Amino acid sequence: MTQVKAYEAVSATSGLQPGTIERREPAAHDVEIAIEFCGLCHSDVHTIRSEWGPAKYPLVPGHEIVGIVSRVGDGVEGFTVGERVGVGCMVDSCRECESCLEGFEQYCEVGNTGTYGVVDSRNGGVVTQGGYAQSIVVDENYVLHIPEGMDPAAAAPLLCAGITTYSPLRYLDVQDGDAVGVIGLGGLGHMGVKIAKALGATVTVFTTSPAKADDARALGADNVVVSTDPEEMAAAKESLNAILDTVAAVHDLNPYLRTLARDGALIQLGLPSEDMPPVDPGLLIRKRLAYGGSLIGGIAETQEMLDFCAEHGIVSDIELVTAKELDAAYDRMVAGDVKYRFVLDAATI
Ligand code: NAP
Ligand code: ZN
Ligand code: ZN
Repeated sequence: MTQVKAYEAVSATSGLQPGTIERREPAAHDVEIAIEFCGLCHSDVHTIRSEWGPAKYPLVPGHEIVGIVSRVGDGVEGFTVGERVGVGCMVDSCRECESCLEGFEQYCEVGNTGTYGVVDSRNGGVVTQGGYAQSIVVDENYVLHIPEGMDPAAAAPLLCAGITTYSPLRYLDVQDGDAVGVIGLGGLGHMGVKIAKALGATVTVFTTSPAKADDARALGADNVVVSTDPEEMAAAKESLNAILDTVAAVHDLNPYLRTLARDGALIQLGLPSEDMPPVDPGLLIRKRLAYGGSLIGGIAETQEMLDFCAEHGIVSDIELVTAKELDAAYDRMVAGDVKYRFVLDAATI
């Protein structure tokens, strides 16, 4: 075991504080990573504040990890010491079920092993601890290659925000000429804009923050709709083929469904801690709309997304924070004041 400095929550109200965790010695197929940067996802906030049910404290969050390989096990073939790598939201899965075999490890039928807060049955039943730490040890099958030349801090958010928006856009086969809406211009939302644009779509951002309109356009949006303005919403009626909903708070979906054209789909990505107002089935029926959801992406698809982003010059727009600024960054995220992803500089832990 190696003792590692980290930032952890000890209760739903403790905020994040310095602590020490243990990382296992790299086994045959393990990669040890010296963490450089870790993105701050709204899921980290939901989890450590126990908004999705009681978390397993003490808990180190963080699943947008970029770092340098420091040691590898004897059996590791895909990674070498000194290489820059990434780890996203999963560090393992059963590897045997239909979902795992088809490369959809995120939908593993016995449950994927989340990067933090999950019992790791393959490694002695310890609770996984995430990336707000100096290092991590991960099986090589769940480690990604960060493309050469990509800024490591700005690449970190691709490991969750990037893949979570890329996967449904690809699943919906979004391409040239499609009209895509993105609800919420935060971490996921701003990646959704960039990726949809790179796939050739015309992009409409729905925001509750009129002050973000210029940024939205600079990020690539063709249209910006202030979602609290009924006239702007009405003007967007039946204009879109697909919508990604990245909102972390409870909201009414029905006004957004009205902006979908026939055969359109609204994909839920944001997971608020409380029930949402019901979807009006009549809206779905009358335009043959689909309302679905999507969870991150598979490992191979995550590598594909990283390579796609490298090819298109896409990274996240980030604000680097120190470990002492984590609590303040969470509060700003909850207030919608993020441009557009906070990233922890792990050197400050
Ligand atoms: P974020 O950076 O905080 O962005 C969320 C954005 O939602 C805010 O910036 C804000 O944008 C908008 N918003 C906030 N409150 C709103 C309200 N009451 N009504 C309408 N819009 C509101 O969060 P994130 O990290 O992108 O994560 C977003 C959600 O996705 C979280 O619930 C997270 O847990 C979830 N998530 C899901 C997956 C998955 O696999 N499905 C993966 C990662 C995260 P505007 O100011 O533009 O309105
Ligand atoms: Zn996340
Ligand atoms: Zn499985």
